[in-house]
Amino acid sequence: MARDTDSELYRYPQRLRETLDHLPQAPGVYFFWAAESKVPLYIGKSVNIRSRVFSHLRTVNEARLLRQTDKITFTETAGDIGAQLLEATLIKQLIPLHNKQLRKQRALFSLHWDETKIDIVSSREKNFALTPELYGLYRNKRAAMEFIRNLADEHQLCLATLGIEAQRRGQGCFRSMLGKCRGVCQGKESIVTHHSRAKDALATWQIKMWPYPGRVAIHEQREGFNDYHIIDHWRYINTVNNLTTLPPAATENSFDGDSYRILCRALFNEKIDVITLE
Ligand SMILES: [Zn+2]
Repeated sequence: MARDTDSELYRYPQRLRETLDHLPQAPGVYFFWAAESKVPLYIGKSVNIRSRVFSHLRTVNEARLLRQTDKITFTETAGDIGAQLLEATLIKQLIPLHNKQLRKQRALFSLHWDETKIDIVSSREKNFALTPELYGLYRNKRAAMEFIRNLADEHQLCLATLGIEAQRRGQGCFRSMLGKCRGVCQGKESIVTHHSRAKDALATWQIKMWPYPGRVAIHEQREGFNDYHIIDHWRYINTVNNLTTLPPAATENSFDGDSYRILCRALFNEKIDVITLE
């Protein structure tokens, strides 16, 4: 098969040429290594490892990464979902220098609104996969608060009625005087209308509850590759080649934002093969 990148090989440092020549046009995760380092400089994923790595090489702002790179290795996967899950897991484990999202797994926050008062809840206290009426994922309480304040401004919602600011007896909330609240706090709008507007505004950010009774396997395959990704309440457990020996069910319920996003896209938007395990 003709490779449009073959002629480009000779433009790259000698030490990288052999590695580059072996990169497959297949999905998976790739690693940039400095000489004699045990932790990669950078981890990436793609549906086409070869073309993605070559696009790094052509990117001017990545010159520093390339100067430090001595070797590029890769792990092929059966498909795109497996590549995304493996990349997210390895970045958290290894924290490569050049991955911008180098954040260790820590608690996330969300807004809980059951149409009374908005609360900021932590993934340490609640299992987000099983809690209804959660909106958005935030790194800290301040970010959650900033989000709801901006949303309220954008939609003229009442922060007093939502329980974020104190109610002032006999008068509207402070923001209603500035025209930033449509006036539910002064009887200018019904609670029902206000809440339905708030629900609409929040809808995009609603956290989806885990839609299965227990664990599932997402099946991806291509020639020579057969991957079952074991998922439990939005948590990626691991990938196995067959379903005869499953790992024990997870005991902790830490919610991981990266897996949640990857799996939500996969489970709700794509035609994928999901096997219910229990
Ligand atoms: Zn108000």
